[in-house]
Formats: sequence, structure tokens, C-alpha cells
Amino acid sequence: MAVSTNSVPTTDPLPVVVIGAGPIGLAAAAHLVERGLEPLVLEAGTSAGTAVRDWAHVRLFSPWAEVTDPAAEKLLAPTGWVRSDGAAYPTGGDWAEHYLQPLADVLGDKVRYGVTVTGVARAGRDRIVDADRDEQPFTVHVETADGREERLTARAVIDASGTWSTPSPMGTDGLPALGEKTAADRISYRVPDLKDPAVRARYADKRTAVIGSGASAFTALAYLADLAKDEPGTHAVWILRRGIGANTFGGGEADQLPARGALGLRAKEAVEAGHASAVTGFRTQAVDREGDQLVLVAEDGRRLDPVDQVIVLTGFRPDLSFLSEVRLGLDERLQAPTALAPLIDPNVHSCGTVYPHGVNELSHPEQGVYLVGMKSYGRAPTFLAMTGYEQVRSITAALAGDQEAAERVELTLPETGVCGGAGLYDDPEAAQSNESDGGCCAAPATLQIGIGAPATTAGGC
Ligand SMILES: Cc1cc2nc3c(=O)[nH]c(=O)nc-3n(C[C@H](O)[C@H](O)[C@H](O)COP(=O)(O)OP(=O)(O)OC[C@H]3O[C@@H](n4cnc5c(N)ncnc54)[C@H](O)[C@@H]3O)c2cc1C
Repeated sequence: MAVSTNSVPTTDPLPVVVIGAGPIGLAAAAHLVERGLEPLVLEAGTSAGTAVRDWAHVRLFSPWAEVTDPAAEKLLAPTGWVRSDGAAYPTGGDWAEHYLQPLADVLGDKVRYGVTVTGVARAGRDRIVDADRDEQPFTVHVETADGREERLTARAVIDASGTWSTPSPMGTDGLPALGEKTAADRISYRVPDLKDPAVRARYADKRTAVIGSGASAFTALAYLADLAKDEPGTHAVWILRRGIGANTFGGGEADQLPARGALGLRAKEAVEAGHASAVTGFRTQAVDREGDQLVLVAEDGRRLDPVDQVIVLTGFRPDLSFLSEVRLGLDERLQAPTALAPLIDPNVHSCGTVYPHGVNELSHPEQGVYLVGMKSYGRAPTFLAMTGYEQVRSITAALAGDQEAAERVELTLPETGVCGGAGLYDDPEAAQSNESDGGCCAAPATLQIGIGAPATTAGGC
């Protein structure tokens, strides 16, 4: 596939607006600086890594060496910054404090805080106007923390705003379950920080339903199991849409990210030790109040014993509302860029691994707009920071007119070892069979992609 021709002459004085000062937005800014282009990072929060700081207590499953960007490291080097031990695993708090904030500080006034992007459009043209569309810059509507509205002009827009602020609800149909809103005081959409005394009190000696089957659910189950060792009345009820099978607990020791594999094994231990009981084939439709407790009700009419708290970890979805006036090409299921979606779609691939990819897969009918980072994956759950760093390296190369570099692949991704057989996603019986392995994670294949280095990927997935 040819690289899109959306690069504007590098003499263009307008900045490239980057939405979000998370890991990928800041990496995009570093790559833009390296390319001699002017970034302007707009961050809604008050500091770098606002979303990451929200889960400061969670330890990453990737070591330091896999969560820092090469261009960012180059920018940081003259300040005396040294990356922490590459093999050690940072928490979200470490990532923000020891890498993201120093990086944002080096970028200085190229990063603005307390600025929320509320709209992006072609200057003077709504979504339906064709005339001279590609020649127009972008207009970016923002609201500042003190309530002012501003209009900024940009030559291109890189949306790295993540998905953290839009968690999925508990309803099995993707919409809130009946009663979910009114039960909000007893529902959380985050992995709890049990070191915080107030949060600990909320779950200690209580029954908590944990809904979800990904790494965050594993983490919550492991945390609650630890709490149960000190506070024996603590118990988790793990709600799964399908049955428990060979892949329920992730890739385990087969995961090339050992810490991620270990998360699943800790969840398994929690179940085996009796700290969590799994309820399978349960598709949540409603949540009823019973005194101070909540009762989850399934589509098939099953009602669970009351719980004190519910933790919903059913994934995230992109907020596309402020992009309504630009022409995006998005996959109808995942809400990811059309060319990227087939590489990450859990309905097609039984493995979580994705080919490294760049500007070709991330371009839209609207030239000059890119979704990157967590947001680029739409509803797919397998995003890794290093994938995002490769995305922005390629996109910024294209913006600088360096097509050869834009097409090159400079990343080797680890094999997940997680074979969900997601086409069987809701089938409790199929999930118990090894068939859902799809066989494609057993032997990682090394493929030559594009012009660059070989990439380890899920062969044949
Ligand atoms: C608990 C958890 C653990 C994870 N562990 C790992 C791991 O071990 N390894 C790994 O590779 N990946 C991991 N990930 C996945 C991924 O790398 C992180 O989510 C990462 O933070 C994604 O970076 P991002 O820059 O795309 O988005 P975010 O970090 O979400 O940053 C988006 C930024 O945009 C800002 N923003 C949002 N909307 C607007 C707006 N309208 N205007 C202005 N600013 C806005 C937000 O405030 C935020 O600062 C983990 C994710 C989670 C949730």
C-alpha cells in the first residue's frame, strides 16, 4: 500500500496539534521535534500522563525498556535523564513521574495543560464540503480550565487522547445494564487502589463482583485475594461471559511478556484458593438494589447472591464526539482505523499480537488526521505502548515527507501467547476447549514486513 500523500511542506509554520500528553502523545511530540516540525500538545489534565496517574498504583506488565520511546530518550538525554533499570517494571505512577513528566518538561511550552479539545474540523468546511478541502488547515476548538474557548489552527492533528475516560458499561449488549446508573455509588470502573485506606475500607470484608476477563480483571482479582489474606471476609465473585477454558487466564508462562502472563496466573490462584468464585456464561442485563447491596441479573434470568460492590472492567471505547466534522475511516465493529482493524480484531484473530504498523494503516479519508495510541485500537484490548511509539515514528516521518522511513518497520513485538478464539467469545462450551487456541500462538513466526527489520508476529493469525 502506498504511503498517503498528506505531508505538507516542512516549511509550513503551523504546528501539528497533538491531543493528549500521555505516553503516545508525548512520544509524537518528541518525534516531531526530531523531524524539525513544531508540535503543540494539548492536555486536558494538569500534568503529563493524567490518565496514567489515575492508575498510578498498578504495576505495568512491560518493563521500562518497553515503555520509553527512542526519540523521547534522545530529547531527554541532555538533561541528564537516565532510564531506570530496563528490566524493572514501573508502576503507572513511576511511568508518569520518572519519564512522562520529565519528557513534557523538556518540551516546555510545546505542551499546554488544562486544555480540552472539544472539536476538530477543516478550517471553514464542515464534514460535507469538498471544495479545496485538502488545502485547508485544521481548526481545533478547545476549552481551557478557566472556561475560555479558543480556536487554534494546525497543519495536522494527531489524536492521542486515549480511551481511559470512556470505560465500557456492564451491560452485555454494550449499553448500561438496567439500574447501572442508579447503582453508581457501589460501582467502580477502575482497578481499586487498596493501599488507599478509604478504598480498602470499601472492599475489606465485603463481597465484590468483578466483571471482565482481561488483564485489569486479573489484577483486581489478585488485589482482592491479597486483601482477603488480611481481611478474611473479603470475597470476589468473578463474572465471565463465557466458560473457564485453557485460555481464560491469558497466556500464562507462554506469554512473551512474563509479567502479563503472571497476572493471569495470580487470578487463577485467587480462584483456586477460594478467594474468588467464578460465575460463567453470565451476561449481565440488570442490577437491582437489595437494601445496601446489589444483585446482578443475567439475560437468562439468573440472579446472583447480593454483593456489596461491583467492579466493571469490560474494556474501553474511543470518544469520537469531537471528531464528528472530519472524515474518518473506521471499522464498524472496533471503531479502529479501517486498515488497522483486521490486524487487531479479536473476532478474526485468536491471538492478541499485532503487526507493527504505521501511517499506511492509520490514514483516513481526511488527510492529516490520525488516531494513535490506545485510541487507535478502538475497542480492541491489546494495545502496547511500544506499538504506539512505532505508530508515531511512522506518522511523523510521513508528515516530514520522509516516505522511506514512514514505510519502514522498526519494531519487534512480543508474542502475547494469549489465544482467545474470540470468534467463540460468548460460547461457554467452546471456551473450555483447546480449539479456541487457534494454534497460532504456539510458534511465533518471524516475518519481513516492509523495508525494515523482521517483526515477530502471530504467524497466520
Ligand atoms: C491499567 C493499565 C495498565 C497498562 N499496562 C501496560 C503495560 O504494562 N504495557 C503496555 O505497553 N501498555 C500498557 N497499558 C496500555 C497503554 O500503554 C496505556 O493505556 C497508555 O497509557 C496509552 O497511552 P496513550 O497515550 O495512548 O493514552 P493515555 O495514557 O490514556 O493518554 C491520553 C491523554 O489524553 C488526555 N485527553 C483525553 N481527552 C482529551 C481531550 N479531549 N483534550 C485534551 N486532552 C485529552 C488525557 O487526559 C490523557 O492524559 C496499560 C493500560 C492500563 C489502563
